[in-house]
Amino acid sequence: MKTLRLILGDQLNERHSWFADKDDSVLYVLMEIKAESDYVKHHIQKILGFFAAMRSFSEKIEADGHRVKYFKISDKDNQHSFEKNIKSLIKKHNIKKLEYQEADEYRLDHLLKSLSGKLNIETRVFSSEHFIAERNEVADFFGNKAYLMESFYQHMRKKHNILMDGAKPEGGSWNYDQQNRKKIPKGMEIPEPYTFQYDLSLIKEEIDNAGLDYFGNADEKNFIWPIYRNDGLKLLREFISNNLKNFGPYQDAMGEKSWSNFHSRLSFALNLKMISPVEVIEIIEEAYEELDEEHLSSVEGFIRQILGWREYMRGIYWAKMPAYEKENFFGFSNSLPKFFWTGKTNMKCLEHSIGQSLDFAYAHHIQRLMVTGNFALLMECDPDEVDAWYLGVYIDAIQWVEITNTRGMSQYADGGLLSSKPYISSANYINKMSAYCGNCKYDHKIKYGENACPFNSLYWNFLDMQKDKLKGNPRMGMMYNLLNKMDNQEKSKIIEQANFYLENRDNL
Ligand code: FAD
Ligand code: SF4
Repeated sequence: MKTLRLILGDQLNERHSWFADKDDSVLYVLMEIKAESDYVKHHIQKILGFFAAMRSFSEKIEADGHRVKYFKISDKDNQHSFEKNIKSLIKKHNIKKLEYQEADEYRLDHLLKSLSGKLNIETRVFSSEHFIAERNEVADFFGNKAYLMESFYQHMRKKHNILMDGAKPEGGSWNYDQQNRKKIPKGMEIPEPYTFQYDLSLIKEEIDNAGLDYFGNADEKNFIWPIYRNDGLKLLREFISNNLKNFGPYQDAMGEKSWSNFHSRLSFALNLKMISPVEVIEIIEEAYEELDEEHLSSVEGFIRQILGWREYMRGIYWAKMPAYEKENFFGFSNSLPKFFWTGKTNMKCLEHSIGQSLDFAYAHHIQRLMVTGNFALLMECDPDEVDAWYLGVYIDAIQWVEITNTRGMSQYADGGLLSSKPYISSANYINKMSAYCGNCKYDHKIKYGENACPFNSLYWNFLDMQKDKLKGNPRMGMMYNLLNKMDNQEKSKIIEQANFYLENRDNL
């Protein structure tokens, strides 16, 4: 055996050029490492999903004729360290060369670089052949200019000729978001989320025996997430048949009727590289050929998430790490309310968004941004804690895409690199986009007094407390005008109410 090829848990790309030829002198290795599973407390479905997908991938490439060494969490020879396991394989198989694909997480990227320096054999790094943009493309594209997703997205559309009509964007506009902000009408049918059913009880037993700490609910006999490449493709086809047409108009809508509305739930399959962004975009473009032009807003909206936001977030991550993981623009240090771990709160929007996160390890974008994220920011929570919660709870959470969305987009902890203003709102927005408020103990119309919705007083309190940092922001001008015109007595009542909620954060 001459070459050892390391495959990380989020590098399950069967179509990687590594697998084009069978070569007996190559040994592939995958490892379930304890420290990788408990450096933050993870949702049990996330651990199960990663292990199950890694094991299916390993079986697949082995069945295709490749040699594989798989270290299960329960294996006696697993030393639970990349370095130790790799060194033992080098010795055992007389390995002369280590090859690995670029890690997407900064910490692992450095770990592998430093490991390469410690081995007395040749090492070679390969692209993961997954992303559309190069790692440094966002940084190179903007240079010293302000970062703006929309310009990068237009650059990517042109460069890769996606949804283009010659030199012009399909339909004449780059972005149809104005048509995409509808609440789901009463009585509208939302298809049941298409799910899988895998019995992962044996893996769960191994996880329990290994003593891994986790949280969240698992129905390990009916695991619902894709664990094979074909599952990912099936999920995509189901999305196109049942949800794509309504994806655009209702992508910001929320409510208790469904836990994923018209969203695709493809992030887990994409982030583990079971399926690639290029093939998803190609299949969506093909599907558009069969659809009426009126559905362009859905097609463009969906492609923008993958070609625009996903690639842009990865570029920001590589441009700004490691400083990014320490950013705390507002200097917040409060703990997350305890109900983030239980879902037990009287606030209906949070109860539902957190509850489904604990049940399915999933919430859709606007729940993550405008319910949990908005609340954590108004509650002045420490971005480290907020990051750890998001990284732990969601099945699709990998640091490059989690931290940019959480610390950047949702907590404004980078001081506005990623968004031009903080994503905060009072109950008004949540009521406009959901049916939550009608079914809540709190009253979305009032700012203080009995049962006043906490979002209202906390929102004005946040603006008041942060005015030195935000009042110069042109996009916040209108809100600061309203705050300035507010009657002093009214304002003190609001601030008093907000302080009461801040102090009683765990009992709302
Ligand atoms: P859909 O709504 O169907 O969108 C399709 C695809 O577009 C997604 O699968 C995803 O790959 C991509 N996409 C959409 N929005 C974004 C975005 N803002 N950034 C990057 N890609 C995007 N996404 C993750 O993949 N991992 C995370 O850990 C993660 N953490 C988040 C934390 C916060 C606070 C917020 C506000 C967003 C986060 N997102 C994260 C982005 C987004 O919410 C999820 O990608 C999306 O909800 C996944 O569900 P879906 O596959 O049904 O997405
Ligand atoms: Fe959420 Fe307030 Fe509406 Fe209740 S009233 S659902 S707490 S926004």
